[in-house]
Amino acid sequence: MSQAKGGVVKRTLLLLLLLLGVGVCMTTPLHAQDLINGALTAMGGADALAQVKTLVVKGTVRHWEPEQSMVAGGDMRHAADSTFEMTGDFTAHAVRVDWVKNFLYPAPRTFQFSEIVTPEAGYVLGIDSNGRNKQNRESNPPGHAMSGLRFTATQRELRRASPALLLQMRNQPDKVSASPAITIGGVTYPALTYQPGPYAFIVMFDPQTHLPARIRTLDYDNIWGDSTYDLTFADWRTLGGVRIATSQRYELNGKVVVDIKITDVSANAPLPAGHFEVPAALQGTAPKPASGNVPYQWVLRRQFIGTYLDSDHPSFDTRATAGLQLVEVAPGVQHVVGGSHHSLIVELGDGLVVFDAPVNDGHSNWTIAAAQAKYPGKPIKYLVLTHHHMDHAGGVRAYAAAGATLVVGKGNADHFRTVLAMPFTRNPDLTPRDLSKPPVVEVAERYTIPDGKREVTAYLAENPHANGMLIGYIADARLGFVTDLWSPGAAPLPDKITPALAAVVNTVKKAGIAPLKFAGGHGATSDYAPLAALAGN
Ligand SMILES: [Zn+2]
Repeated sequence: MSQAKGGVVKRTLLLLLLLLGVGVCMTTPLHAQDLINGALTAMGGADALAQVKTLVVKGTVRHWEPEQSMVAGGDMRHAADSTFEMTGDFTAHAVRVDWVKNFLYPAPRTFQFSEIVTPEAGYVLGIDSNGRNKQNRESNPPGHAMSGLRFTATQRELRRASPALLLQMRNQPDKVSASPAITIGGVTYPALTYQPGPYAFIVMFDPQTHLPARIRTLDYDNIWGDSTYDLTFADWRTLGGVRIATSQRYELNGKVVVDIKITDVSANAPLPAGHFEVPAALQGTAPKPASGNVPYQWVLRRQFIGTYLDSDHPSFDTRATAGLQLVEVAPGVQHVVGGSHHSLIVELGDGLVVFDAPVNDGHSNWTIAAAQAKYPGKPIKYLVLTHHHMDHAGGVRAYAAAGATLVVGKGNADHFRTVLAMPFTRNPDLTPRDLSKPPVVEVAERYTIPDGKREVTAYLAENPHANGMLIGYIADARLGFVTDLWSPGAAPLPDKITPALAAVVNTVKKAGIAPLKFAGGHGATSDYAPLAALAGN
């Protein structure tokens, strides 16, 4: 049944109930209008809000990323401290956000850029990521049209945080439906569901103040499966004549991952001419909003750490390449390249081993299908995860579903058992099934995969990137596999050795192995000798 039809049916039912003199229970649209009107009154009144035609909001933002932690399941990585100035034109439905994002991870750097979002498309003016897409790299000045995935994800978050959300809910009753009350931290919040687009918000109301308290979406996280993503509102004040929550926080599964402080608001101030203007070259190429499966957590959280590749495929730049591909880097060894993150497939006597499960299960599905086509009849017996970070382990479920034994570094086995036991009904790439008892090997120092044909070993690496990091080695090919400590061929070696590069050399020395080349979880394949020389070996 369509939303509109549903609304008509509900209104008809309500009318019948009223005519019959039946008491209206807590879940009827009448209750919905009470909640919405109560919130609007607490926010200063619907009329006052409707008078706001333009809004300029300034503030600061801190970001944390839970799945780039040093320890699996441990303290989140503090990712960025930023400032923003957001301009909204409620008549033109256009928003511009001017950012100064100071990233702390993976390396300290500042990106100053603007995002412009209109009802038709979204744009980035400037450089906002280490993972720049082809259009951004080739535009002068740098800029690009947002992918449909990012456009929809950005629209969702702008709409969620908009002071006009409650007005929209009041004006679109057919998109509002009842929702069970939700208890969080001992407080029971009456709630409504609002579906303004290809996504739904669960809007929770403060039972005391009637203000909106928390706006939830039900997302899929590639590590933790079915997840809640909440925007919480606190410290309501009147700034620039507008009643606004000056503390806004996003919680992922109850953990604060974004902390926004609003410092300055002005309403109905004249806007600079051309404030929402976008270069014509970008406009012509702008994708439409995505309407199908949008990997919201991937799109949003790769931006937390300034590494998002803005593309309509999460794994590769659709504007630059045709997609993922296999490159044979040694006999019976395929490097899965073409995307932002790579795996390595190694043929054994009676099966296959794959190193790393990047991005998501869609990426894994491609790799598994390509491996089966290349080596028919050889099952994937092992998945070696170099480390637990979401961009290199987010496709773990597809391998567990294929029956692979997980090989993980010291201290990570329980983490992955917990992860695989979580429900994942919202995973677009894998139907729900029980993965709660995966075979797991935890590598204390080294682990050689049992095989009659060749020697494939995972070595534990002491390193500054992630505890329990593994480096792979295929002895007969004299080929190593390394992720994030070194991206072979991605960039020239630096003049001076870094702690991450030194970790690779130290692991090789300790293992007593003699690699000729390394393939990377990023980059390509390159000779090991120059790195050893840089380390003075
Ligand atoms: Zn990493």
